[in-house]
Amino acid sequence: MAISFEIPERVLQEREMLKSVAENIMRPESRYLDEHEHQRPHSFIKAMWYVLRDQQAKALQKLTNGEDKPKREGPGITYVRMIVLAEQLSWGDVGQYLCMPAPLLAGSAIEAVGTKEQKLRFLKRFAEGEPKWGAMAMTEPGAGSDTSAIQTTATFDPETNEWILNGEKIFCTNGKLALEESDGIVVVWATVDRNAGRAGMKPFVVEAGTPGVKIGKVEIKHGIRASDTAAIVLDNARIPAENLLGSPEVIQREGTAGFKGAMATFDASRPMVAASAIGVGRAALEFLKEKLAEHGIQIPYGVPYHQLSAVQRDVLEMEMQLKAAWLLTLRAASMLDHGLHNSLEASMAKVKAGKVVTQVTQKAVELLGTMGYSREWLVEKWMRDGKINDIYEGTGQINLLIVARRILGYTSRELQ
Ligand SMILES: Cc1cc2nc3c(=O)[nH]c(=O)nc-3n(C[C@H](O)[C@H](O)[C@H](O)COP(=O)(O)OP(=O)(O)OC[C@H]3O[C@@H](n4cnc5c(N)ncnc54)[C@H](O)[C@@H]3O)c2cc1C
Repeated sequence: MAISFEIPERVLQEREMLKSVAENIMRPESRYLDEHEHQRPHSFIKAMWYVLRDQQAKALQKLTNGEDKPKREGPGITYVRMIVLAEQLSWGDVGQYLCMPAPLLAGSAIEAVGTKEQKLRFLKRFAEGEPKWGAMAMTEPGAGSDTSAIQTTATFDPETNEWILNGEKIFCTNGKLALEESDGIVVVWATVDRNAGRAGMKPFVVEAGTPGVKIGKVEIKHGIRASDTAAIVLDNARIPAENLLGSPEVIQREGTAGFKGAMATFDASRPMVAASAIGVGRAALEFLKEKLAEHGIQIPYGVPYHQLSAVQRDVLEMEMQLKAAWLLTLRAASMLDHGLHNSLEASMAKVKAGKVVTQVTQKAVELLGTMGYSREWLVEKWMRDGKINDIYEGTGQINLLIVARRILGYTSRELQ
């Protein structure tokens, strides 16, 4: 399949607008929010809510009219647009970007496995009223990379036509914003049959205000300190039957299990994480080049390698790695826009970008000497912020495992 690496003009214009948000709203608040964890980026939230609420309303209108499918004359640009925006806002400040009032991961899950009725019902709240957040809760104290180990149970009560959820989720991005600070939603993964492994895992939409749902510990973190990461306790939480995304049926077949929904969610969200990583890396690289230029060090292009200084080579290597990660990310997103299956490409992009942002931000700190390590500049913060991209949405190792399985043709049981 041919993929164009041109970003559509409309998206580039939107990126310019978001660059202004990044420079004028996010960057000035960056250090304050880093040093005052759990305070909210109110200016950013307010600015984004007006934009996103309108966009959500238009998307829902299209869905209602049956116009949500890609048009005949060509593929859509939904995912390419999303990665461009994620990259630009993360260049501004990734912690604030994660506080974007939108369906976020809950939206990806609903999009991937929800019915049209569910999309309209759950996403409507993001098109009206006050800012709201969506989140997804998979991780548990005993289940991180090995998601099949989740212990949260969902038991059906035929008398009330409800699912009863019990368990504890941890490290849920925007969990508190979604359930305690807004009328948002969290897609909670629970098992309807513990003996069925991944086949028994199902996503349930838990709405703010549901009795039996409480926010537990809110994490104090190494980076992305403007973003809220919370535990969610489910104690006999009753969820209407129609809040289960997909079918309640447990099908024991590799690739067709309940987990398929989670994979479809990650296919959409991993390119976003990769793009976000690249935004942080670009912030560090641009800052480094600016500081080097102040000291008379320019980065020449088209000059033989042996004529470059060690610092110039380092910078070119950083730039090249970021570009490679971006091209993989663009491919993964573009495939989704073309309606193609992109699990392999989404994991490839995520692995690459997670590693690259870690290396690039560390190298920037290193090359900037003592000031690189100082809190006077944001570069040390970008180094802390960048690392998360190698952890959530599947760690670097797990995504590498997915890539290996797909290339070599092994199942998850055969290659662990
Ligand atoms: C800030 C933050 C926000 C998060 N947000 C969310 C969220 O919104 N929703 C959510 O559900 N989760 C979230 N998470 C959880 C995140 O997805 C998990 O941390 C991640 O999946 C890894 O799980 P773990 O931390 O339990 O590590 P473990 O699974 O215990 O792994 C520890 C280490 O071992 C490696 N490892 C494990 N298995 C293998 C293997 N088979 N082969 C090779 N290496 C392996 C891992 O790569 C890792 O380096 C968040 C985490 C953080 C830190």
